[in-house]
Amino acid sequence: MSVQGMIFDIDRFAVHDGPGIRTTVFLKGCPLRCLWCHSPESQSNHPEILYQEERCTACWLCIEVCPEDALTAGERQGKAVAILDHAYCTACSRCIDVCYSKALRLAGSSITVGELMEDVCKDIPFFQSSGGGVTLTGGEPLMQPEFSYNFLLACTLHNIHTALETTGFARWELLTRLSSVTNLFLYDVKFIDSDCHKRYTGVSNDLILKNLMSLTKLNCEIQVRVPCIPGINDGEDQIRSLAKYVGRMGIKSIALLPYNAAAGAKYRWIGCQYTLTDRETQTQEYMNSLADICREEKLQVQIGG
Ligand code: SF4
Ligand code: SF4
Repeated sequence: MSVQGMIFDIDRFAVHDGPGIRTTVFLKGCPLRCLWCHSPESQSNHPEILYQEERCTACWLCIEVCPEDALTAGERQGKAVAILDHAYCTACSRCIDVCYSKALRLAGSSITVGELMEDVCKDIPFFQSSGGGVTLTGGEPLMQPEFSYNFLLACTLHNIHTALETTGFARWELLTRLSSVTNLFLYDVKFIDSDCHKRYTGVSNDLILKNLMSLTKLNCEIQVRVPCIPGINDGEDQIRSLAKYVGRMGIKSIALLPYNAAAGAKYRWIGCQYTLTDRETQTQEYMNSLADICREEKLQVQIGG
């Protein structure tokens, strides 16, 4: 219960991350760099400051307390604002304490399994009444294998249903250990084509698909999740070959996740640039047509998370 992990969010009453009402815990650190990642603050494995410049009232209190001179007075589009240079920031949080307009926030804090369980157990009545439970996601939970295992084990001992969302990019020994405390795997598959996977996520999908195949042999409950990115992996032929591939593995369930056009804003908050600014969320009609393609492969289809 004293194993420590680093999380950046806890989402209560979530209804998209597995069955029933769920408490979703977001872990820091991810080995992939998907161009469309909707939680860019999840990628690094250390704490970082999110800065929403549009909330800044130019009081300059943060500049006075910053020991690293990471904040300076500046101007954007004719409005005085603080400018944060993330390269100099050590995430000491002093600026957050003085920023009354909540322009500054910390993403990433340490927590023990015991502390997290204390929090999560408050939601047990909601899990029981809805058939819900806990979902561990990120980032990539397998980047913190001891914490993830011990937390899911503690949930299991409390009879809490457990779901684990994973990129599958991890050593097989870690996945198989986690499978003993996981009721449902939410397994992300972005491409069947390895070159495309590497181009858009930074890594090959060889290990991911190999692990998925091995997981099916353990008779785990698996839902494959496909973030559908316009013009990148949401073509009808791409979805057809992906559906055929996972169907042949014996997987029964797939979720098609429409593109989240709002994700780009967070990139500015951590001082990065979002490159997919020219994409729009797919129409419901188009998502339905992709769902029909998956049904032809005898898959149960869910649109949305
Ligand atoms: S403390 Fe907050 S509101 Fe004040 S200058 Fe800094 S970021 Fe802006
Ligand atoms: S977190 Fe600390 S180092 Fe970073 S900007 Fe704020 S006061 Fe400066």
